Amino acid sequence: MDFSSGRARLKQARLAGDRRELYPHSLQFYLDPPTENVSLVEFESFAVDRLKLLKVVENLGVSYVRSSDSYKTKLEAELRKLKFPYKALAEDDYEARRKDHISHFILRLAYCQSEDLRRWFLQQEMDLLRYRFNELSENLRQKFLEHVNLPFEAISEDLKNELANELCTSTPGMTKVKEQMFYKVGLADAVDLFRARRVFIKDGFAYVPHKEIDAIVLNNYRTKLSKALALTARSLPSIQSDERLQPLLNHLSHSYVGPDYSVQKNTGKISLEQIDALSGKSFPLCMRQLHKALRDNHHLRHGGRVQYGLFLKGIGLTLEQALEFWKKEFIRGKVDADKFDKGYAYSIRHSYGKEGKRTDYTPYSCMKIIMSNPPSQGDYHGCPFRHSDPELLKQKLQSYKIPPSGITQILELVKGMHYQLACQKYFELMHDVDDIGFSLNHPNQYFTESQRLLSGGRELKKEPSNSGNSQQKNNSQESMNSNSAPTSSNTTADAELEGLEAYFTED
Ligand code: SF4
Repeated sequence: MDFSSGRARLKQARLAGDRRELYPHSLQFYLDPPTENVSLVEFESFAVDRLKLLKVVENLGVSYVRSSDSYKTKLEAELRKLKFPYKALAEDDYEARRKDHISHFILRLAYCQSEDLRRWFLQQEMDLLRYRFNELSENLRQKFLEHVNLPFEAISEDLKNELANELCTSTPGMTKVKEQMFYKVGLADAVDLFRARRVFIKDGFAYVPHKEIDAIVLNNYRTKLSKALALTARSLPSIQSDERLQPLLNHLSHSYVGPDYSVQKNTGKISLEQIDALSGKSFPLCMRQLHKALRDNHHLRHGGRVQYGLFLKGIGLTLEQALEFWKKEFIRGKVDADKFDKGYAYSIRHSYGKEGKRTDYTPYSCMKIIMSNPPSQGDYHGCPFRHSDPELLKQKLQSYKIPPSGITQILELVKGMHYQLACQKYFELMHDVDDIGFSLNHPNQYFTESQRLLSGGRELKKEPSNSGNSQQKNNSQESMNSNSAPTSSNTTADAELEGLEAYFTED
């Protein structure tokens, strides 16, 4: 009698064919793209999970030494949680291997679109491969090397004993030859080690210690993946013509994976008088910069108005408050009240879903801010960690009393293109905490976490009287339908944002 569930039967049926042969190893170089049909739902969920994984890889790579136990334990936990292959399991992780394969290729499509994206993707994939390769047992490592056509052979104990002296003297830092495994590698694959005089050479072969073999494997993988990304980028035009895929891929490359920091949770909890103080205490640098520019110039160009306006909406400004806030500031500059009411007020109502298509827009995530619409001269939007000149960033941080050692750490992270981690460090220094305990993905997350910390874990105090309660009520129904955070695909969101930006184009 068959007691297996439908899902288990399906899995068995899949494995009964030749599908298992597709993934003979838990690890691969992703040389062949998947050829099976993948539903849009699976396409998106696989991609979002891999993106989450790569973000964890990035975070851990900066916070821990890669060979440390903490690094390995945390990464393994994440791989298990997201159901990716986490150890070289023998037979029964077909689904995990399939997900690993398909999700890699989807993100390859999404992350081949610019130099920045390619570099980020390549770095995280390399770190992931390094971890997994080093976790393989000796036997599986050998099999994997053969599988990816790098048939480096581990030398026998006899040969090792015979060459012990040479191996010891020719390999820097090598003291216990007996405890190390050595691989016999063709010279062409070990040129770097040979040039640096770090290996023993005999009869046209390099004898590479185990600790260096992962560098050779990774080099090989880097070359292959870089080429593949460049090739994929060339085929983008044909993908961009696919109206189902393109919005999904755009969302992924700008994607923010985390909770939704949209407006309705906080509406009406902030008063306009609080904003100046909050900008110094709880705004991330991008929003602090925008707020200061607005106060100084009584104006922001459209990129700044969209980014800052949606952030303020996210922290709880009601429509009425937003209209009052922007109007008060703008009429102190060159815009008179009439011009504001006719031009700018409409765009603000639009962003709150009260005009046009009535889309209730959500605040921008870090990825969206970092990856799209870079600021030009006279603009204040964007991410200062990504878009500011390092010297200007340094000056800004000094003016905010960040200690010199903290500034050095931030600038190091910026140099390594870890912009969100630089922002996390800024958070830690601003709040005098050692570890923020979350992964920063969103300016509104920064604000919420800051407020939580400053208030000792309590929620924001609600303002006793405000004009926003009715707005909150009206929006609550809309919010159920309009959560456009890109954790779930919203294929119309890009088009809608274009609509929004069109309303903000007046400088
Ligand atoms: Fe703003 Fe995100 Fe950049 Fe921080 S990392 S400054 S929150 S865009």
